[in-house]
This record gives sequence, structure tokens and C-alpha cells, in this order.
Amino acid sequence: MAAPVIGVLALQGDVREHVTALTAAGAQARPVRRPAELDAVDGLVIPGGESTTISKLVDIFELRDPIDKRIAAGMPVYGSCAGMIMLATEVLDGRPDQRGFDGIAMTVRRNAFGRQVDSFEAPVEITGVPGGPLHAVFIRAPWVERVGEGVEVLGTVADGPAAGRIVAVRQHNLLATSFHPELTGDPRLHAYFVDLVRTAP
Ligand code: GLN
Repeated sequence: MAAPVIGVLALQGDVREHVTALTAAGAQARPVRRPAELDAVDGLVIPGGESTTISKLVDIFELRDPIDKRIAAGMPVYGSCAGMIMLATEVLDGRPDQRGFDGIAMTVRRNAFGRQVDSFEAPVEITGVPGGPLHAVFIRAPWVERVGEGVEVLGTVADGPAAGRIVAVRQHNLLATSFHPELTGDPRLHAYFVDLVRTAP
């Protein structure tokens, strides 16, 4: 598979930035809003935005079942920020009616870094991404409080008040980051995901 087709869930959030980053990383990227569009992609990105809104729109656009089924069948998915929340099996400080895809066995806390540091930037070293730390941008970001069996921790915050917090994980074909690599013009994290899609069985 030379240039895999990767969809970006285009219900809410920073869709265009992910399309640009995926294209720069060698994928054919396109927005996904309908089940038929989902059928045509090899992998999916769930963008940053607002997980409670994305959760509602997933139902309205009748994408919940089709996405659940594709995930169960092994489709690679990458979730950033709100997308990470959508992939978690457990969400703390969520709204009672928000629902994700039960993809990665982890507990995430919404808006975890606190109001004082609503948004911040930090270098984060990611296992499997060569070339030094990524410049990670966090915007009302979740962190991962617990990971279950089979979940690989790929990155943690190095220092400061949030030192040691888990901000990048992978479980089989599912990848999630608390931060937004689509905002920095560095395609390495997207390249990692494009590779994952390209080599997925
Ligand atoms: N706080 C948002 C949520 O709960 C995530 C923020 C983001 O994606 N930048 O969904």
C-alpha cells in the first residue's frame, strides 16, 4: 500500500489541520462524515475539539456502530486530545452522557492539566518517533491516569508540575495523544500513524 487512504472524522474540531498533516506525511487524506465515507478509508483520525460534542454528533450522523465495527475489525485509529478521550474505555470529569468507542484500555481525565495552565507547550519524547522530542501543544488537554494490559506508554511529560503524566499511548492499531501535533507543522507523529496504517494487517 503506497499512500494509504486516511479519513479525518469531520463532525467538529480541527479537521483541516489533520488533513494537511496527513497529506504532508504521505497519506491520501479526506474528511469522513458518512458511513459510506468511512467504508472507503484504511485508517481514521479523530481530531481535537470537544469530546462531548463529537460524542453527540457521532450518534446524529449514525457513525457509532460503523466506527465500533471497524475498530473491532482492526482499523487503525489515531485520536488527538478530544480524540484521545473518544478512544478511552473510561473518562473522568466527563459528562455522564458522553460516550466513546471503548478502544484503548485506559482511564483519561478531561481538562486534567487544570485551569491555571489551560494551555501549554512542552517537549515530549515519543517512543518510535525518531529525531528528538516533539514540540507538544496542550489545549485543555486530558492526561492518562491509568493504562490497562496491552497498552504501551509512548510518551510522558518530562518536567514541570505535570512531570510524569502520560500523554501518548498505543494499543495495537490504536494511537492517542493528549496534544496536537497537527498544529506545529512537524509531520513526524502523523508519519508514525501513516506507517501504522500502511503496515496494519
Ligand atoms: N477539553 C476537550 C474535551 O474534553 C478537549 C480539548 C481539545 O481537544 N483541545 O473534549
